[in-house]
Amino acid sequence: MTGKRDGERDANRLSRRAADANRLSRRAALVGSTTTVAALACALSGCATSSKVQGKASQVEAQYQEHPSGLERCGTCKHFIPLTGCEIVAAPVQANGWCKYYKLF
Ligand code: SF4
Repeated sequence: MTGKRDGERDANRLSRRAADANRLSRRAALVGSTTTVAALACALSGCATSSKVQGKASQVEAQYQEHPSGLERCGTCKHFIPLTGCEIVAAPVQANGWCKYYKLF
C-alpha cells in the first residue's frame, strides 16, 4: 500500500514539475515577444535609436526646462525623437520638457 502511495506522489511531483517547466517556457516566450513588439514599435515610430540625428546643442544653451511652456512641450515638437531624444538638443529630454527651439510639428 505504501509503495502505491509513493508511486502516486512521485507521479504528482513529476506532473507539477512539467507544469512549472511549461509555465516558464510560456513566460520566456511572452518576454521574447514583448521585446520584439517594443523593438518593432521603436522602429516604426523612430525611437532615440533611430537614424534621426541626435541633437548636439547643450540643454543650457537651448534653455531646456523639464516642464512645458504653456501648451508647448517636447512631445508635440517636430524635433522630438521618442522616447527621450531630440534632433537639436542633447539627450535626454522629456516629453513634458521644453526649450527655445520648440516648433509645432
Ligand atoms: S522643445 Fe526643444 S528639446 Fe524639446 S524636442 Fe523640441 S527642440 Fe528638442
